[in-house]
Amino acid sequence: MATHDAVFVGSGINSLAGAALLAQAGWNVCVLEQENRLGGCIYTSSDLTLPGFAHEVLASWHPLWTGGAAYAELKEELDRRGVEYLNTDLPTGSTLPDGRAAFVWRTTEENVAELERHAAGDGAAWEAMFDAFMANADLSFGLLSVELWSATGLDLGRKAVRRLGRRGMLAHFGTTLSTCRDWLGDTFRSEEAHALLAPWVLHTGLGPDQASSGFMTQVIAAALQLGGMPVPKGGGIRLVEALADIVRDAGGSIRTGARVERILVSGGRATAVRIADGETVAASRAVVASVTPTQLYGSLLGEGEVPGPVAAAARRFRYGRGELHVHLALDELPRWKGPRGDELRRCPLVHVTTGLDGVSRGVNEAERGLLPARSTIAVGQPHVLDPSRAPDGKAILWLQMQETPRAPVKGDAAGEIDVGDGTWTEELRERYAERVVGWLGESIENLESATSKRVVLSPADIERLNVNLVGGDLYSGSCALDQNLLWRPFAHAPGHKTPVDGLWHIGASTHPGPGLGGGSGYLVYRELTRAPLPRRALANARQRLQQTVAKS
Ligand SMILES: Cc1cc2nc3c(=O)[nH]c(=O)nc-3n(C[C@H](O)[C@H](O)[C@H](O)COP(=O)(O)OP(=O)(O)OC[C@H]3O[C@@H](n4cnc5c(N)ncnc54)[C@H](O)[C@@H]3O)c2cc1C
Repeated sequence: MATHDAVFVGSGINSLAGAALLAQAGWNVCVLEQENRLGGCIYTSSDLTLPGFAHEVLASWHPLWTGGAAYAELKEELDRRGVEYLNTDLPTGSTLPDGRAAFVWRTTEENVAELERHAAGDGAAWEAMFDAFMANADLSFGLLSVELWSATGLDLGRKAVRRLGRRGMLAHFGTTLSTCRDWLGDTFRSEEAHALLAPWVLHTGLGPDQASSGFMTQVIAAALQLGGMPVPKGGGIRLVEALADIVRDAGGSIRTGARVERILVSGGRATAVRIADGETVAASRAVVASVTPTQLYGSLLGEGEVPGPVAAAARRFRYGRGELHVHLALDELPRWKGPRGDELRRCPLVHVTTGLDGVSRGVNEAERGLLPARSTIAVGQPHVLDPSRAPDGKAILWLQMQETPRAPVKGDAAGEIDVGDGTWTEELRERYAERVVGWLGESIENLESATSKRVVLSPADIERLNVNLVGGDLYSGSCALDQNLLWRPFAHAPGHKTPVDGLWHIGASTHPGPGLGGGSGYLVYRELTRAPLPRRALANARQRLQQTVAKS
């Protein structure tokens, strides 16, 4: 039986980041992945459409990764291994059906000018928003990056009290509960500003009328200006390969086609995992599972190995909306319509939207089990940043429709498509994709003539690609407030420590939630490599003594 210090279940970004960091810290690590490729949602494919086109089949944009703590710690090694990020001065824009468009740029001056052209006062509102956000950015980003149920989480609260006072701290965290609709309405006057930012709430798994969506939109607005829209040159596969090589080069093991079917518990402690072929892999210090709570508590652990209320709460864990994804290979560059078509053409991620109310309606219909009458389209143009993704003069469109029901059991809000019993059949998927592409054709004049190949993924296809994306939920669990932040994955087992000693829960279902940040893998790495309490106490005492000596 092979024995490692730590065994990771799954090879998504959180596992690979955590495993690479532990490997660098001298741990012998094993990563077990059930698919025949590594990376989970990072899946670069050159076989999806036509020769010469390299598509990101699932996740594409890496701002959370390049802005995160895991990357900061691994950057030097990744640079050495040739992982190169490409970025832009024009990360995102939105266009309305009548051709009006608005953009987020990389400097406050440009964003002030951009928003001011749509409504007098909106430019100043952007500047005020950005400055206020930055004044407490450590608190806001801290909420999304530290282990909240820990001494560090408590320190974050204490820091907020010291800086803002008790009432100020309550006010600060109180505003994080506001909705995107309220925040946008209170901050910006123009419809264009609302259309620019409201679709971003979809990328947090929320809708614009849900608690905390205002805070999330604000974080994204600031992050877009600060971080842009980086992608790895050559695709996410470059990052995946480099992280896996860090583990291998440190003597660790990375295996595909290895589905973990059981976590073995002995004396209340996780000691090993059993793979589907019956092989056992032992973990002397930690088992780290990047799976949904449904899988962790429902099948990987046996009955009686966790307290009944935890197992029952895990059964109630809810999943969010599904997604329809369309990949297009174009044999010429898209010609965007409207007076700002040139800017739309060079923008890596454009939202084609009917605005704030449109996003709200699409979300509502999808959540009620309807195909939306009109959906927001997130249009990725990766070739803009990385020309190696498509042959010269050709283009890739990565279309994401996040207002899609996991199953359209209630019908079609437009009354056009027969959804049958709501199963995502090939026919239903292609008919709905046809409608989406028709909407996009209103904004790109050569869309139909330039498209040489189309590949569509329904929510059911997306789940088939990654078991953690239940029902095609990109975020591995609803991000509604009762399953987010302090309560992710769920109130009975928040954070990453599980009721089983030595077993850690990471991945999109856990805090700080979905996205390519690698945050949960990083937090568990930190916890596992923390000096034991007596050594920490000694180090703190030494630091206090040095400070006293320095003062005297
Ligand atoms: C279509 C799509 C587009 C997205 N776009 C972006 C984007 O552009 N930017 C961004 O920041 N985020 C994006 N996201 C979200 C982001 O990609 C995910 O939240 C994130 O990648 C999840 O990482 P993870 O570490 O939880 O693991 P995952 O990527 O979910 O991988 C988990 C892995 O574990 C494996 N596994 C599960 N159970 C077992 C088992 N029992 N045994 C062995 N292996 C197992 C799975 O096969 C899978 O490979 C997107 C998601 C999707 C689906």
